[in-house]
Amino acid sequence: MNDAGVDAVVVGGGHNGLVAAAYLARAGLSVLVLERRAEVGGAAVSFRAFESVDVRLSRYSYLVRLLPRKIVDDLGLRVELRKRTVSSYTPVGSGGILGGDPASLGADADAWQRFYAMTGSVAERVFPTLTEPLPTKSQLRERVGDDHAWNALFEQPLSEVIESTFTDDTIRGIVLTDALIGTFAPADDPSLRQNRCFLYHVIGNGTGDWDVPVGGMGAVTAELARAAAQAGARIVTGAEVTAIDPDGEVTYRLGDDEHTVAGGHVLANVAPATLSALMGETPDVQPEGAQLKVNMVVRRLPRLKDSTVDPRAAFAGTFHVNESYRQLETAYREAAAGRIPSLPPCEIYCHSLTDPSILGPAAQAAGVHTLTLFGLHMPARLFREDNENAREEALRATLRSLDSVLDEPIADCVQPGCVEAKTPVDLENELGLPAGHIFHKDLSWPYGEEGAWGVETAHDRVLLCGAGAQRGGGVSGIPGHNAAMAVLEKSALRSR
Ligand SMILES: Cc1cc2nc3c(=O)[nH]c(=O)nc-3n(C[C@H](O)[C@H](O)[C@H](O)COP(=O)(O)OP(=O)(O)OC[C@H]3O[C@@H](n4cnc5c(N)ncnc54)[C@H](O)[C@@H]3O)c2cc1C
Repeated sequence: MNDAGVDAVVVGGGHNGLVAAAYLARAGLSVLVLERRAEVGGAAVSFRAFESVDVRLSRYSYLVRLLPRKIVDDLGLRVELRKRTVSSYTPVGSGGILGGDPASLGADADAWQRFYAMTGSVAERVFPTLTEPLPTKSQLRERVGDDHAWNALFEQPLSEVIESTFTDDTIRGIVLTDALIGTFAPADDPSLRQNRCFLYHVIGNGTGDWDVPVGGMGAVTAELARAAAQAGARIVTGAEVTAIDPDGEVTYRLGDDEHTVAGGHVLANVAPATLSALMGETPDVQPEGAQLKVNMVVRRLPRLKDSTVDPRAAFAGTFHVNESYRQLETAYREAAAGRIPSLPPCEIYCHSLTDPSILGPAAQAAGVHTLTLFGLHMPARLFREDNENAREEALRATLRSLDSVLDEPIADCVQPGCVEAKTPVDLENELGLPAGHIFHKDLSWPYGEEGAWGVETAHDRVLLCGAGAQRGGGVSGIPGHNAAMAVLEKSALRSR
């Protein structure tokens, strides 16, 4: 079946595809969004994950920091992001480190202030460039205007600045975790992929806070879908794209029918490796995701070993579990050797403490809470052979790791049947993320060919608009915005 041609076909209705569709439709282009799943949003969705309890969890991504104010304002999005009362908590011995509270940072308190003042200044200078055409490396370096910061973050493995700045093993680990979210690397990896991951974790909106989307991640996606549809984009779900031609022809399956549609441009919200496969090409990168995501509903928050801290404070922020610098190194080595880490490093937080709106009335009355756990150093290779058994083993090890900082087993607090774990292989199967990579591929530097938008491919009519574009990754809408800008720029040039 041949559909009428459109100015732009967006392949994938993840949040970035919706951002691209909204910008293009608002500019007057005809836009068709084709989404394989029954609902839009990709990794940015809320689900009632457990039948027995009326709770809508942010099933995959859960915190927002990278979504620029500009996109929210341009698209008129009604998105509420709420600050957490505590940014993070890390248990240490009989005490703990609460956020950046100098009193809990001991001898590293001054170093912490200086280090995060440095990253804050880099953030202020780099973040606004993400929605502009790419600067070259030297232009970005000039913009950063601080050789020490540039070398520490952009040139040398992160291990160097961490080890020369901080003395405490736990504090070193807290800093390093931002480099290892979904990224399988040691601190001193010469590829610097850990540096790029770190950079994206500290530059969002020029501040250090990861905020809670009120209503869950699904509320963000719902607003984007509303903005795109109101602007005139047509969104079709259950539509799996099976081929993309360099001339802009897209073939997709909808129910039992096969359709083709000619697009003036094709914007690929899918991962670069998926785009290559759809175009009949060999992917030039093979990504590998490296995390275990666990969602739980608990009847009550568990008691902590550290009795001086209220669990409501500890779980409101990012609660670091067995994430010291040495523990991260050990876990990396074990996973690299093909074993599930013996004490998996992970971080956990409670969404419903900051935003109870994700709990239905009965769940609120019963006082239940959601817990979202993100485990590091769980690469896809550990799950390829036997995903079911490896998932069980990884979950057991992770809950053991969590129990090591609690005063009672987490199992005693969990609402019966309300635990789900997602391995990289699960994410590949459910969301189409190659090897479960949460950013579609390792993050890239925010500089490149001058004037490009970082979304270009070898084919003029085909652009990336998802996390795998340069400056993609995370719930940001940035590559969606940039792909739309690239199309509009080209259209303007053509009509001149
Ligand atoms: C477990 C997890 C936790 C995360 N936590 C956070 C977090 O807290 N904060 C944060 O900022 N980021 C987080 N991330 C990363 C972030 O969610 C992603 O980088 C981001 O959502 C990617 O958005 P996207 O729109 O580019 O792509 P995706 O969300 O991957 O969307 C791509 C869409 O394309 C569709 N698709 C795939 N193949 C086809 C096809 N053949 N035809 C049609 N459609 C197709 C998919 O179904 C999907 O809807 C997390 C990710 C995961 C998985």
